[in-house]
Amino acid sequence: MTCQFCNILEKQSENRMMDAIEQQAAAIISGERRALARAITLIESTRTDHRQQAQALIGAVGKAGRQALRIGLSGTPGVGKSTFTEAFGMMLVAQGLRVAVLAVDPSSSRSGGSILGDKTRMERLSRHPNAFIRPSPSRTALGGVARRTREAITLCEAAGYDVVLVETVGVGQSEVMVADMSDLFVLLLAPAGGDELQGVKRGIMEIADIILVNKADGDLKSAAERTCMDYKGALHLLRKRARDPEGFPMAMSVSAVTGTGLAESWDAMQQLLEWRRANGHWDRNRARQAAVWFEEELRNAVLARLENDPKVRALRGDMLKRVKAGELPPDVAAAQILALL
Ligand code: GDP
Repeated sequence: MTCQFCNILEKQSENRMMDAIEQQAAAIISGERRALARAITLIESTRTDHRQQAQALIGAVGKAGRQALRIGLSGTPGVGKSTFTEAFGMMLVAQGLRVAVLAVDPSSSRSGGSILGDKTRMERLSRHPNAFIRPSPSRTALGGVARRTREAITLCEAAGYDVVLVETVGVGQSEVMVADMSDLFVLLLAPAGGDELQGVKRGIMEIADIILVNKADGDLKSAAERTCMDYKGALHLLRKRARDPEGFPMAMSVSAVTGTGLAESWDAMQQLLEWRRANGHWDRNRARQAAVWFEEELRNAVLARLENDPKVRALRGDMLKRVKAGELPPDVAAAQILALL
């Protein structure tokens, strides 16, 4: 027999949670930075009740229907990402735009460190009322990085930021992941010593929309310009992509320190995005990204159920033993486990 009283209590607590969520969503949409920061902390949590709240919150802020320009930015440590982000961000806020900066650091779960961990590296931008900077969390559950970042982008869009810069260290798969949640992807490079192309993998060149060779100042100026020419040549050899207008992907030289080329790089980004908007590539890209997200969530949810389902747990060890002993073919064992879900 179900307890009616328990049902009523449960319903009341659910209603209270939904009220709190609606309030938090309204605070985010009205641009309260503390509410946004708290919400990002919530989405970073792996607790089941927090996850439910996070899902409800993402749904609630989505009603605002706002879209920001999502820019992915990648580069190896020392190339000047923080310096560039600060200078570029300051240029955008000076134009009256609101800028959010999110960091993705896939290595932080291991090292405990984080890019942008040291906010003082972007002192001016982090103090600006129209900027929001969120370092990457020092501990992120494996596989949680992508979700956390996507949801943080959604929250920043709802909060009315015009530009969301997603910054990542150029290692492993993180660029591909960030490119998959951005409207355009910028690769920051340092001037090469000789005339060799730095060890930039072909795959990265192919996902880059704009290559910026940084540090084009002082003694490094001519090396930066030479490197930029090399990349222009290399990009020219790439197959023309349907999503690009003439002249893209593009290579340019900039200096985050002197500010040379920053305005031109922003012009190029806007030119590319306007073209993509006008030609349907923007919408198609976002739809494709939503589909990728859905598939990933589905896969993760099934995997999580496999790990946590008590019936599966009870049977899995025994199955494993029988598979090892050759008593049961692996595919049959797997099918029996899946049937439990
Ligand atoms: P990150 O690790 O990619 O975030 O790189 P940082 O922004 O911390 O910069 C690494 C170093 O490069 C610092 O010493 C910066 O001062 C220097 N740097 C960054 N941008 C430029 C630039 O445009 N020109 C010169 N000359 N140095 C730069």
